[in-house]
Amino acid sequence: MPKETKFYDILGVSADCTDAQLKSAYKKGALKYHPDKNAHNPEAADTFKELSHAYEVLSDPQKRQLYDQYGEEGLEQGGMGGGMAAEDLFAQFFGGGGAFGGMFGGGMGGMRETGPRKARTISHVHKVSLEDIYRGKTSKLALQKSVICPKCEGRGGKEGAVKKCTGCDGRGMKTMMRQMGPMIQRFQTVCPDCQGEGEIIRDRDRCKQCQGKKTIIERKVLHVNVDRGVKSGQKITFYGDGDQMPGVEPGDVVFEIEQKPHPRFQRKDDDLFYHAEIDLLTALAGGTIHIEHLDDRWLVVEIIPGEVIAPGAIKVIRGQGMPSYRHHDFGNLYIQFDVKFPERIAGPDGMGMTEDQIKALEQVLPTRNNDQPPPPDAMTEDFVLEDPTAGEAGRSTGQAFEDDDDDVPPGAERVQCASQ
Ligand SMILES: [Zn+2]
Ligand SMILES: [Zn+2]
Repeated sequence: MPKETKFYDILGVSADCTDAQLKSAYKKGALKYHPDKNAHNPEAADTFKELSHAYEVLSDPQKRQLYDQYGEEGLEQGGMGGGMAAEDLFAQFFGGGGAFGGMFGGGMGGMRETGPRKARTISHVHKVSLEDIYRGKTSKLALQKSVICPKCEGRGGKEGAVKKCTGCDGRGMKTMMRQMGPMIQRFQTVCPDCQGEGEIIRDRDRCKQCQGKKTIIERKVLHVNVDRGVKSGQKITFYGDGDQMPGVEPGDVVFEIEQKPHPRFQRKDDDLFYHAEIDLLTALAGGTIHIEHLDDRWLVVEIIPGEVIAPGAIKVIRGQGMPSYRHHDFGNLYIQFDVKFPERIAGPDGMGMTEDQIKALEQVLPTRNNDQPPPPDAMTEDFVLEDPTAGEAGRSTGQAFEDDDDDVPPGAERVQCASQ
């Protein structure tokens, strides 16, 4: 029993329907709901798209199996969402000109599509950690693919048991004619003898292994080389390792590399970026920081006493970035520093700083040089600073102290105020 039946319901077939039933259900529906025929019914276009998508999935043995087992979610996770545009599928089905171009006034010849020369490509996004890109690795990835049935060698039945349909001469479609007033209407219809298959297999001669489908689903493991330094978007192709179908070239398998986000490092081309938080004492008087790299090494980085790291300062360690693809020289590691200031400095009695402590600081720090004193004749008043309340602080940073990073969208502020 399939996990979901939505796609079957859209086509109006049961979940155990044959390929032929599926095909004829799609043909019937697609002709009925095609947008060209429903200019006054915009809903038909949606129905047409749904029909096409459902058919595209269920007519592909690999996708149908995935859908039956895991539902729509399974298709997406298997990298098989998306798919063909409804009109393309329709055109492929009914021939390049579409069914309606040749429908009236004759001229509709044998328009059965010749079929793709090559089976479709299986595409998969391969997510890789930054560690694996740093070191390089080989991933073993399993995929489900169609292979020519080994029992019947892709015939669908015993040798000689598969016959070309005489009703349609193997085309699957038949041209019919109907008198309509003064005109003779010629139209194409699914061959009723073979349900559009173009060939006929007697039930008792049908291959037991593939049930006449000519292909079976097989699990295949591919070894994907993730080279050192590869970048997101790079593609690795296995030519001819994809689906097999009788009479066409086997398809390809394409893996697209996607680098997963990393908790410590950000990558830009071959360079790495790292945020280090240090305390004020280390920033002023030096110390050591430790950075866990991508290959089990820890970098021990010394901050020289007196060299003062300002908040936001950026320093570089050359050659400790990513290996560059194919060349394997290395980018740089950039470190941006956040300096954590102490909340307060307490003296030995737990109160404020002592005179001696202040003197000690004055000895090592540059002299006070804060602002312009008022002119000697100005009138002055004395104040001390208070901490604003949480609400006041929020309002002041949101408005007057707004700085360059506009991460508060307009309106968010208003919402914040309204909820207080
Ligand atoms: Zn078979
Ligand atoms: Zn036929």
